[in-house]
Amino acid sequence: MTENGDSTPLVVLEGVNKHFGSLHVLRDINLTISRGEVLVVIGPSGGGKSTLCRAINRLETIDGGTILFDGKPLPEEGKALAGLRSEVGMVFQSFNLFAHKTILENVTLGPTRVRGVPKAQAEQRGMELLERVGIGAQASKYPAQLSGGQQQRVAIARALAMDPKMILFDEPTSALDPEMVQEVLDVMIGLARDGMTMMVVTHEMGFARRAANRVVFMAEGQIVEENTPDEFFTNARTDRAKDFLSKIL
Ligand code: ADP
Ligand code: MG
Repeated sequence: MTENGDSTPLVVLEGVNKHFGSLHVLRDINLTISRGEVLVVIGPSGGGKSTLCRAINRLETIDGGTILFDGKPLPEEGKALAGLRSEVGMVFQSFNLFAHKTILENVTLGPTRVRGVPKAQAEQRGMELLERVGIGAQASKYPAQLSGGQQQRVAIARALAMDPKMILFDEPTSALDPEMVQEVLDVMIGLARDGMTMMVVTHEMGFARRAANRVVFMAEGQIVEENTPDEFFTNARTDRAKDFLSKIL
């Protein structure tokens, strides 16, 4: 439940199916994400985790079932679809910053172009967000001048600049050198504490334990297990999850 008392779920997936040709990648997915909830999605490679993320902001279409965002079916196209994309931030494994734009420009581009926010206002807010993720001093640099951990924090600031209702993180720390993982997770933990609704595909158990309300284990296109983080990591119910955990932990 959010501060304004809206207890309707932010995201509802019902009977969602997705094929790529003959490959059935999402199989009857039922999943509800509450406002302010932090959901961690974990599971073996190829299990459909990225496709699930992409389906929620309609980077992929689905071929069966329904997805409701904020109580409404996902828009198909046009302005409404652009609106959805600005309400659902996405942070990928590869940071996807614009190489020829400064750090601050990377963060202000969305608000000025998509939302029509005046440049000065977008810059002021952009600087606040860069400070929040600890990158304020790098604002006039270019992405290649920053470390991977710094670039991923910029990507988070860029997502926040659109004032999203939710952020999807798809393996945000998988491409980082080990010493940079925690600085990104710390920013994400801060967001979680501030009440951001988040779906996070990650195998970072420390993050899941500190920030997640719920863990979903996904394999072969299905949700195999849903559990609290503590239960999942110490006492998984299914053999499939136990087997997976024995390999990653
Ligand atoms: P995960 O993120 O859990 O590793 P993905 O959602 O990326 O899984 O992929 C699920 C399955 O769908 C995999 O077998 C993958 O090869 C396949 N797949 C993903 N995207 C496409 C695509 N655009 N075209 C064809 N197959 C795809
Ligand atoms: Mg993936």
